[in-house]
Amino acid sequence: MKSLLFAEIEKKSAKFQDIAENIWDYAELGFTEERSARALGNALEEEGFQVEYGIAGMPTAFLAQFTSGEGGPVIGFLSEYDALPILSQKAGGTEPSPVVANGPGHGCGHNSMGPMQALTVCALKEVLVEHGIPATLKVIGTPAEELLACKGFMARDGVFDGLDAVIDCHSNSFFGTAFGIQNNGLFSFLVEFFGKTAHAGSRPWEGRSAADAVELMHAGTERLREHMLPEQRMHWATLSGISAPNVVPDYARTWYYIRSKDPYIKALYERVRRCAEGAALMTDTTQKVTFLAACHQRYSNRVLAELLYESMKEAGVPQYTEEEHAFARELQRKLGEPEIGMDVRMEILDTSTIPFRGDSSDVGDVTLKAPTAALQFPTWVPGAKAHTWSVTSCQKTSIMRKGVTAGARAAGLAVLQLLTRPELLKAANEEFAETLRQHPYEAYLDDDAVPPIHWHEKDMAEMRPLLDAALAEQNRR
Ligand SMILES: [Zn+2]
Repeated sequence: MKSLLFAEIEKKSAKFQDIAENIWDYAELGFTEERSARALGNALEEEGFQVEYGIAGMPTAFLAQFTSGEGGPVIGFLSEYDALPILSQKAGGTEPSPVVANGPGHGCGHNSMGPMQALTVCALKEVLVEHGIPATLKVIGTPAEELLACKGFMARDGVFDGLDAVIDCHSNSFFGTAFGIQNNGLFSFLVEFFGKTAHAGSRPWEGRSAADAVELMHAGTERLREHMLPEQRMHWATLSGISAPNVVPDYARTWYYIRSKDPYIKALYERVRRCAEGAALMTDTTQKVTFLAACHQRYSNRVLAELLYESMKEAGVPQYTEEEHAFARELQRKLGEPEIGMDVRMEILDTSTIPFRGDSSDVGDVTLKAPTAALQFPTWVPGAKAHTWSVTSCQKTSIMRKGVTAGARAAGLAVLQLLTRPELLKAANEEFAETLRQHPYEAYLDDDAVPPIHWHEKDMAEMRPLLDAALAEQNRR
């Protein structure tokens, strides 16, 4: 079974490596990933999967499934494909140089994640059919990870219900996985203030400034910051409001992220809410809060993580050419990192033994819906930095292509074990039941909250023709 799996992966690799490059070219921001989602959905359809788009109210989300036999376990595979703003960068470059100035780019490596998962399931399915192993494989296309605005809505709407295990993944510079509680939970919300316009010079007494309210809210939360728990985080960005000094603005808004361990996040939110109410009271304006996203901490399953670790050891690290090592060393030199070339490490992390990380991932909610662990697979140069041009540069190279294949070998092997050794799936689910007993799932998003599917619409409408023109120019050459 293992040799058939690896042979199928080998056979289908080029197709999915190409799709990873196409998604890199599209560089679509969260919720605008029409082409990226279609590229993956079409490829899966060609391989016999049933594909449905528009999951949980998100046009660029999809669900692709294949059943090799009824009654078998149901395994989910998460795949992200959104790009980041302003990280456009020429492929394989060792200096910052955008394809399109201020354009989006795959600086977090999401372009190779969907293809890796799709390659995994397409190869796995051949093995399941050949050996008569009943199972259902579900690829869940999850847009807008960078807004953390997808999986919380999907979890609330039951998209992950009925899964026996979930393989999450992320592109990286190493092979790895982790188990235990990780990251902060997150609430992401807009606070809008509504006032009244007036001539700021001649009749200011008639105006009520929404911009003042935003400033006062920030003043309140900056004082609050001193009195939060040490691992809590709070950041804000003012989005709009002040159009000209001589008009009292009747509208202004600010975007908040608050992050905390799950048990304390609601209490922190209530205190931030009171800062908004206080600011409105002081300025004689009104305010309104709209949720953009919310997610839990991550509770990664140890049984699955250990299985992934064993599998990556067996799958092995790619062989790199002298040219690839040279590119890696050159990039490392430019970044001031140790010049180790493509020295890809392999690790399994017990999160209770490392310093607390204050960031968040919307995979959190999935980990409270089914046993879940993430496979980090090597698509970029060690020392390249996520959310910068250096990762965008690596994400359309032969190193990325090899990573897609290596990741699929590890993920495929792990799932094959899960489907042929029922005691493993049972152990993963027993551990999960205990996790749920200690941390029961509760949707953070109200029933009336909707995913912010128009968030990047305008930016992408502006950038898409520029990206297309740059690609056409490159193809002409
Ligand atoms: Zn990412």
